[in-house]
Amino acid sequence: MDNRVETGDLCLHCGMCCTDAMFGWIPLVSDADRELMLRRGYDPERIGHDRFALPCDFLRGKACGIHPDRPASCEAFRCEVLVAAQDGTMPLDDALATVRRAVALLDGLRAALPAGETLSSMRKHWDQLDQSGMPTPPEQAQARVAFYAFNLYLDRHFRPAGKGLVNRVE
Ligand code: SF4
Ligand code: SF4
Repeated sequence: MDNRVETGDLCLHCGMCCTDAMFGWIPLVSDADRELMLRRGYDPERIGHDRFALPCDFLRGKACGIHPDRPASCEAFRCEVLVAAQDGTMPLDDALATVRRAVALLDGLRAALPAGETLSSMRKHWDQLDQSGMPTPPEQAQARVAFYAFNLYLDRHFRPAGKGLVNRVE
């Protein structure tokens, strides 16, 4: 029996790395990738010479709308859950449960975001929020707890060791 885990077995239930949940942008490693993105209709305002902004214009539900033509950096990226599932160190069912838990935490976070705040903006000023010692305004408390819970979960399961956002020593 062939037990190989294909990328789609997991990623088609997730899609988080193509939204703005994990990163604010994705690098472009060649002019050809950049030109192809523009030709396929990516918003030119959201493409720099070496990166494009997330969430990606080509995300369709949880799937890539330009899968055969996606940039090399998208093709190369594998989060730690996908790596573990493909290496056989995590059963696919456990990997799917991990993805489902992350998606549920993300849904909770999006629902708690204060008006005008985005996942990217929260990530950008997380250090400031985390280290300021200032009390959290009551109207932002739910979002901060949800942001912390979601990113701690990503740090534990999806990001490589030492590359955490809220837990850098893991
Ligand atoms: S975060 Fe991981 S599991 Fe989810 S779509 Fe990206 S590579 Fe796949
Ligand atoms: S091009 Fe496809 S794989 Fe790359 S970020 Fe956009 S939707 Fe995701």
